[in-house]
Parts: sequence; structure tokens; C-alpha cells
Amino acid sequence: MTAAIIDGKAIAKDIRAELKEEIEELKAAGTTPGLAVVIVGEDPASHTYVNSKEKSSKEIGIHSEVYRFPADLTEEALLQKVEELNNDKNIHGILVQLPLPKHISEDKVIDAISPEKDVDGFHPVNVGKLVIGKDTFYSCTPYGIMKMLEKENISLEGRHVVVIGRSNIVGKPAALLSLMNNATVTICHSRTKNLKEVTRQADVVIAAVGIPNYVTADHLKPGAIVIDVGINRNEDGKLCGDVDFNSAKETAGAITPVPGGVGPMTITMLLYNTVKSARAFAAK
Ligand code: NAD
Repeated sequence: MTAAIIDGKAIAKDIRAELKEEIEELKAAGTTPGLAVVIVGEDPASHTYVNSKEKSSKEIGIHSEVYRFPADLTEEALLQKVEELNNDKNIHGILVQLPLPKHISEDKVIDAISPEKDVDGFHPVNVGKLVIGKDTFYSCTPYGIMKMLEKENISLEGRHVVVIGRSNIVGKPAALLSLMNNATVTICHSRTKNLKEVTRQADVVIAAVGIPNYVTADHLKPGAIVIDVGINRNEDGKLCGDVDFNSAKETAGAITPVPGGVGPMTITMLLYNTVKSARAFAAK
């Protein structure tokens, strides 16, 4: 069997085109969705992500503000900036790029963002709403996975989803969103015993491990849907996922590639959440 390839790039493009139209409507009614991104320090990968968020926002007509601060910015100054953005009527989404320098508490900064503008879905209020199955801002990467499956007409209802990884930004919310979509969910992690025995029972495997090519055909039931969240570099410095694509595609029924799978969906859902927030503010 050779798996169908789930083209995240094409799906992301379609959703961004839909958002662009929605933004035009919002603008015509007097609201321009605004996203503020704050970055502290010089981490090159974080700057690349932030530049990409800025570019993607502008492309679809979102008002974008980026605040780039040096690594020695104080926690107090960052909290003050967040408070300023919380009160800024032109801003509907606030994202503080992680990781932050060690002298700044990420928890404190996330807690300081207004839950109504927390388009990353990291604030404990929004995480709590996800847990109790309420509509809110969901973490962009797992939400992107759900949207991608929806667009491919892949229903999770009654299916066994095995999530590998339990991080707060990917694994846990991916499991909770799958549950919300009526899947039977198993979460595996670094202490899971006999991982392959568990994953071989999965109708859908979501791999968010951070180990290059970790999931192979041996982990899969024939026909399983495989969602590869990983963004890693292999020994040759080439981008690769957590799934050994070449082996897995022979057993899987459908699979996301890296790059071009989950990755493009993440920023798309940030834009989606920003538009959702602008719509909610406009309706007040
Ligand atoms: P993380 O390091 O926070 O979490 C990794 C998880 O994998 C942990 O919960 C751990 O228990 C589990 N794990 C580690 N070793 C394991 C093993 N041997 N067997 C089973 N489970 C194991 O990472 P994260 O932030 O969740 O990210 C995971 C991957 O997804 C990374 O490659 C990251 O770069 C990528 N990522 C991609 C996007 C995207 O937009 N595509 C977004 C976020 C993260």
C-alpha cells in the first residue's frame, strides 16, 4: 500500500484565502484584525518564526505589529508591554514568542495575556475551556491538525487516536481536541512501555515526539492515518519529521509530509484565531 499524501500546504492556502475574504468583510464593517507579536532575545529560529508570522499576517490583510526586544529586557518591562497590548483596541491577538530568556517567567507572561486575546491558546483559562469542551482559542498546531483532517473529510468519531507526546502545546491539546471530536484517545510518552503495541492499535497516529524518524512502519496498523508534527534535522542537516516517511508510507493509509504537512497549518491557525478574536470584539 502507498499512502495518500495529506497536503497541508494546499489546505493552509485554501484556509488563508477564506480568511482573506472574511477580513475584507470585517474591514468593510469597521474592524481590522490586529495581531501583536513580541519577541525577546536573538534566537535565530524564533526570529524566523516571527518574521514568517508577520509576513503571513500582512499577506491576508491582518494589521501586524512586531515588538523585538533585546535579551536583557526585564520581566517587568515585558509584563508592561503585554498590559499595554491588552488595552490596545487595535490589537485582537497577542503572541509572546517562546522560549523567553531564563530570567523571565514564561508562566507569568502567559498569565498576563488577556485570555480574550490569547490567540496561541496557552493561557490557563483557555486550556481549561479546552479541557471542559468549550469553544475557545485552541493551541495552533493541534488545532491545525484537526482542521486538516476536517478538510480531508477524515472523521475521528469512534476512531482510536494514539498521540505520541504529552507537551502542553502539542500532545495534550491534540489529545483533548481528538476527544472533543469523539475519538477514543490514548496518550503515549517517554515512559510508555511497549509503544509499538499501542500504536499498532491506532486508526490515527499523531506523532509529536521531537526525535527524527522515530515512528516507522512497524508502529502502524495497515491503513492508519499518520500525522507527523515533528520538525527535526537529520544527520545531514535536512528537515525531517518524527515519522520515517519512506517506511511509514508503505503501511499508512494517509500521511502528512515534513515539510508541507502540519507546519503550514500552525501559522494558518494563528491567523484564524486572530480573525476569530476580531470578530468577537466587533460583536461586543
Ligand atoms: P516536547 O519536547 O515538549 O515533547 C515531546 C514529547 O515526546 C514529550 O511529552 C515526551 O514524553 C515524548 N517523548 C520523548 N521521547 C519519547 C519516546 N522515546 N517515546 C515516546 N514519547 C516520547 O516537544 P513538542 O513541543 O511537543 O514538539 C514535538 C515535535 O513537534 C518537535 O519536533 C517540534 O519541533 C515539533 N513541533 C512542530 C510544530 C509545527 O508547527 N509543525 C509545532 C510545535 C512543535
